[in-house]
Amino acid sequence: MKNKSICCIDNVFSIENLKNLITVIHGENTPLCYLHSFGCQQNATDGEKIKGMLAEIGYDFTDDTEKASLIIMNTCAVREHAEDRVFGNIGKFKKLKKEKPDTIICVCGCMAQQKHIAERIKNNYHQVDLVFGTFAYNKFYEMLYEVLKTKSRVFNISEQDDSINENLKQLRDSKIKASVPIMYGCNNFCTYCIVPYVRGRERSRPVEAVFDEVSDLVKAGYKEITLLGQNVNSYSYGFPQLLKRLNTIEGDFRIRFMSSHPKDATSELIDTILDCDKVCKHLHLPMQSGCNRVLKEMNRKYTVEEYAKIIDYAREINPDFSFTSDIIVGFPGETYEEFCETKKAINRFKFDNIYSFVYSKRSGTKAALMEDNISHKQKGLWLRELLLEHRENNVSWMSRFVGKTLKVLAEKEGRTSEHHLNGRSDENIIVEFIGDKALIGSFVNVKITKAMNWALLGEIV
Ligand code: SF4
Repeated sequence: MKNKSICCIDNVFSIENLKNLITVIHGENTPLCYLHSFGCQQNATDGEKIKGMLAEIGYDFTDDTEKASLIIMNTCAVREHAEDRVFGNIGKFKKLKKEKPDTIICVCGCMAQQKHIAERIKNNYHQVDLVFGTFAYNKFYEMLYEVLKTKSRVFNISEQDDSINENLKQLRDSKIKASVPIMYGCNNFCTYCIVPYVRGRERSRPVEAVFDEVSDLVKAGYKEITLLGQNVNSYSYGFPQLLKRLNTIEGDFRIRFMSSHPKDATSELIDTILDCDKVCKHLHLPMQSGCNRVLKEMNRKYTVEEYAKIIDYAREINPDFSFTSDIIVGFPGETYEEFCETKKAINRFKFDNIYSFVYSKRSGTKAALMEDNISHKQKGLWLRELLLEHRENNVSWMSRFVGKTLKVLAEKEGRTSEHHLNGRSDENIIVEFIGDKALIGSFVNVKITKAMNWALLGEIV
């Protein structure tokens, strides 16, 4: 980067000036960005928006950090492990920055939104040039301009901004499946969760904006649309109504959504799922614990009995209805007996899949101040016990599909053999079957022949 040429450019930010500055720095060469998104689909969507913004100003993308002139770590704050990985990665960039000082290193997302993390990066990781939180995406161009222009470090962890920018185009990683956020933030303050602190309070996108985006995606050939929100049931304009509206879009596609807070999941939601032909007969309903005392401490605002009512209601109408769940093992104060109640509950509810993790202490949350006498190692053993229990019973539960024909979206090459394809059924269950690679990206009917603990096997009919 030659300071002399840069000085010729107007100091005031504008997209035109940013593009000119990039041209001065890179000349004829296309600037390359390496972007890695950690964590949930919401975060992946934010990453795709940043990519969209960069593509607009001439960037292309690479999987090789050595070739990139801009490295972006789009971070997640939900578990300590993900944060450790980010710090590990940033640490490695020290050498790269020394060898190639013009490389811009950026850390953004949920983790960066936390003051103590931003401070830690500021003080200890001088190789990082740009840090911004979840409310600063709209300022990305300005921040990038400032870093490139002044070569100074920029930190922006501004407080909640309620506006939703409908003009940010996503550069989507998949041509088959697309995620569409319908709302941002969370008002629930579960005591273990950092999300309300880093993503702010709930705000919903207008129905028309969601409808238009989904319609455009269907027209562009996308087969699976996943509606995203921390708790889609509190979508301001009525979530069942939104599903009904989206179900009117013509085309060969299906709709999924996540996540749904059990305290707000109603029989109306189940009825809507069952009535709408494009909505998958699957509900991800994070139970977190099968013990009422622990649920109360978590501030989840439902009991195991109330949770059971939703599952029983759906399965009474459709016995194959698929539920998946999140489980936290070793919440502060949880005893082994209470953990066993969770094991009992997963057997009772017959989840098609569980996403279970050892409790991760998040500073700033209420649970972080609770007494916690069980060691991490012990909690790890409980987690193994839970997963084994689930695995043992899962095959017999998944066998309910043997002999039935499921609609599967073929997504990629399979694991079973080089002739197999891998996809997911409406129930969100992995299905492998022999098929031509040309089928990838289309729906196929597969007759299930075998249930395994990780997938169903079948044949195209
Ligand atoms: S509902 Fe609870 S767990 Fe989910 S994002 Fe909100 S606070 Fe976190």
